[in-house]
Amino acid sequence: MSTATIAPSPSVTVDNSCSDRPSAPYTNFNQITHEQFQQAADHMKLEREIQLLLRTPYRELIVQIPVRMDNGRLELFYGYRVQHNAVRGPYKGGIRYHHEVDLNEVRSLAALMTWKTALVDVPFGGAKGGITCDPTNMSRNELQSLTRGFTQKIDMGLGIYRDIPAPDVGTNAQVMAWIMDEYGKKHGYTPAIVTGKPVNLGGSLGRDQATGRGVMIVTREACKAFGVDIKNARIAIQGFGNVGSWAARLISNLGAKIVAVSDVKGGIFAEKGLDIDKVLTHVASTGSVVDAPGTQPVSNEELLMLDVDVLIPAALGGSITDKNVDDVKAKLIIEAANSPVTPSADARFLSRGVRVVPDILANAGGVTVSYFEWVQNLQQFRWDLDKVNHELEQRMISAWNAVHFRHTNENISLRLAAYTEAMMKVAEASRQRF
Ligand code: NAD
Repeated sequence: MSTATIAPSPSVTVDNSCSDRPSAPYTNFNQITHEQFQQAADHMKLEREIQLLLRTPYRELIVQIPVRMDNGRLELFYGYRVQHNAVRGPYKGGIRYHHEVDLNEVRSLAALMTWKTALVDVPFGGAKGGITCDPTNMSRNELQSLTRGFTQKIDMGLGIYRDIPAPDVGTNAQVMAWIMDEYGKKHGYTPAIVTGKPVNLGGSLGRDQATGRGVMIVTREACKAFGVDIKNARIAIQGFGNVGSWAARLISNLGAKIVAVSDVKGGIFAEKGLDIDKVLTHVASTGSVVDAPGTQPVSNEELLMLDVDVLIPAALGGSITDKNVDDVKAKLIIEAANSPVTPSADARFLSRGVRVVPDILANAGGVTVSYFEWVQNLQQFRWDLDKVNHELEQRMISAWNAVHFRHTNENISLRLAAYTEAMMKVAEASRQRF
């Protein structure tokens, strides 16, 4: 999602890059996260009662949102908010607007948030929300009514020390501003109720680039740990939205060659490395990376199979499955998207010695700076960009070090190491509370 700016004009600002998202080949996301949870629970020999507590969401809300559309018709939408776990702090997680949103997906993403916040040691739990809708086919007014209606319906579960939403795919800073405004009508001025807001309304500097920056940090650290010279590394990135484009920009600043990037419309390739600034200019004028000058076309499927050192899936869940995993040539995968590698593909990677830096570590930069935003709102004080980036760097490095140490010490995959590290913290907090 593009949280970088809000358009000053009344045009619709909700990102639409995922509008024609094809059905993911592996849609049971809840099964993915459940399998990953279970592997870690078995590895940790986690007691059964704590397993039950950690596996089960605390609260699941399904709400009806009637919206009077511009054509006068009343349309009914369904929204979800799943609060998975809050033993370490208030529920925290994004809100997704997409036509494939369902309770199953939201439930799975909520659990991921619990592990992610624990891994980077921010005092939050995990939640996720979503509305089944196609934001690309809705006007600004319709989106505003939908967002305000949703906020009213989930109001009873929200609170600055209870549940703090954020943007996700299909939502952005403008949507967060509407949520803050609607919540404020009932509770008074409360900027800390959402993160990912416009900077002008209390958003944090650096939040727009935070997830991509976190991806850059773990890519750099993983390259160092596994003997890849980042200055000469060849890298392909699938997805050129908020996360993929910032990751491309920041990683190319380290000297790496980004040889291919893609979006929903297709991809581009340049043997000597893409000029990311020029690609960004092309995207700003055409809306896609496709046909950027001086590049060759490559399909999304071909991009995954390129002869590169590092592959960064930064689009959607389920892009690497047992159907294409054996064609992937990269030896290092950085999961910038949530759940891009299915469990069976993950097992293949493990047996082939391919290292996968898991989503709960690779894309945790976003929630980390969301935490900084919340802290700044509570302090009523703005940090400068250097401070935000410095604090982010420290949190990401410390999470990376803990995962890498466990990976090496226990001879387990990076994913199992990350889940174990995160679940230990949540389990310990549960034992102390119950
Ligand atoms: P976005 O909507 O800004 O960008 C998504 C990109 O993927 C776009 O370039 C889009 O064209 C492309 N895309 C969509 N369908 C595709 C397909 N089938 N094949 C190839 N490309 C496709 O979203 P984002 O915020 O960049 O999020 C990307 C991923 O990162 C999501 O999985 C999201 O949940 C995850 N994530 C995002 C954040 C954040 O702060 N933005 C934080 C954590 C995780």
